[in-house]
Amino acid sequence: MDRILERLREAVLGSPWQGRLWLVGGAVRDGLLGLKAGPDLDIVVEGDAGEAVQFLVHSGVADGPPVLFPRFGTAMLRVGGVPVDFVTARKEAYEPDSRKPQVEPASLLEDALRRDFTVNALLRSVSDGDLADPLGQGLADLKARILRTPLDAETTFRDDPLRMLRAVRFRWQLGFEFAPGLAEAIQSQANRLRVISAERIRDEWVKTLLNPAPDRAMADQKELGLLAEFAPELLDMVGVEQGSDHHLDVWDHTLLALHNTTSPDLLTRLAVVFHDVGKPATRTVEADGRTRFFGHERVGAEIATRVLDRLRFANDDTEAVAKLVRNHMRLSSAPTLTDSGARRLIRDLDSLVPHFLDMVEADASALRPGVRRLDLAAVRRKLAEIAAQTPASRLASPLSGDEIMALTDLPPGAEVGRIKALLLEEVLEGRLAPGDAEGARAFVLRTLAAATPLDPQTSGNQEDS
Ligand code: ATP
Ligand code: MG
Repeated sequence: MDRILERLREAVLGSPWQGRLWLVGGAVRDGLLGLKAGPDLDIVVEGDAGEAVQFLVHSGVADGPPVLFPRFGTAMLRVGGVPVDFVTARKEAYEPDSRKPQVEPASLLEDALRRDFTVNALLRSVSDGDLADPLGQGLADLKARILRTPLDAETTFRDDPLRMLRAVRFRWQLGFEFAPGLAEAIQSQANRLRVISAERIRDEWVKTLLNPAPDRAMADQKELGLLAEFAPELLDMVGVEQGSDHHLDVWDHTLLALHNTTSPDLLTRLAVVFHDVGKPATRTVEADGRTRFFGHERVGAEIATRVLDRLRFANDDTEAVAKLVRNHMRLSSAPTLTDSGARRLIRDLDSLVPHFLDMVEADASALRPGVRRLDLAAVRRKLAEIAAQTPASRLASPLSGDEIMALTDLPPGAEVGRIKALLLEEVLEGRLAPGDAEGARAFVLRTLAAATPLDPQTSGNQEDS
């Protein structure tokens, strides 16, 4: 980042832009806090951002042509591979019922007033590195680790309700406290989140989940009334008692599991968030007093799909999360993982296996202390061993439909499909080596000769709590 700033500094040296470009936002804030720099830079321009960017392109620092948004007074440029966002210093006037602000060029102070938090409005001059605090409050708040809005909180949040989600994210990303009144302002305006697009909420939620404390952030989102606006389905877990292996209700169990999800991986964390979301709708109490949640993994996968679709997550991500949720009980039934069990897992989950294992580990870590847990290290070893022998792509029928038809004279149809399924079963059970076409032919002829009913057994997928 310093390298990029140095190049920008040199590019404007002696030009009319010297002293008029200011680094703002995360780069300044995180730099002062001694945190690792984020992936991009934000620069506020005293003057027209588009013109400044055209100048920089002519000076030769840019990797390529800029992306200009003249209507918004913003422009994007890549310098040394780093995306740099430029914005015209501006003020924003919001009509009460519109999300689209009127944007006008303005002073650095007015620009700072339209930002979300005082610590995000600190500036560092690209030309001489000087720090500026136009609000006169940002530096003090940074030192005291306080998240405060430049205007009164109600106004800042009303103007752009997404800022309420940003407040929760920054609180836990940075380890800050809310300024007095900020939590109350969120509580009173949480329902304004309704006017925010699904995509903006999604992007903010993703960043929040990748925080070091996603569980604390989620607890805040619940307490402050934000979760009720964008994922109310998750709130159904609150207070759902589960008994037996659990000491926590479904919500608290989920938060603890999230807390224990060590790798900051989006699919794993989303899967943990949703893994038990099907429990509230499937809870039953047996005659013997046991609490059961029959089929909750399937219901949970449906709920996850509904929520993630609504928030416009990429289809691949939604499907992956739903698959992880649907399979999260896969290791709960058997005390050990057999070779064929491992092959079935690899066939079903393929590239999701690492996410699956992390999810299962997080889930198990949030059970009642002292509950006997699956030996996950042994499971990981077994899966690695089997995966090394046979990649998922080879866990298939060694014969294609055409090959089966040629061998048996069967017409195309369900019968051929059933034979393929039987062959896959033989491979998964280890009775037939992957890709063993010769053995597969012998098996098919033997089976047809014996005229046993073709009835592929399905996997023993356990489905209770
Ligand atoms: P990070 O990059 O770690 O998410 P950041 O502070 O750089 O943190 P960005 O989303 O990159 O956050 O935005 C850059 C700056 O733009 C912010 O610091 C803030 O000053 C301003 N900003 C971004 N989004 C908003 C918003 N919704 N309302 C007001 N100001 C915002
Ligand atoms: Mg940033």
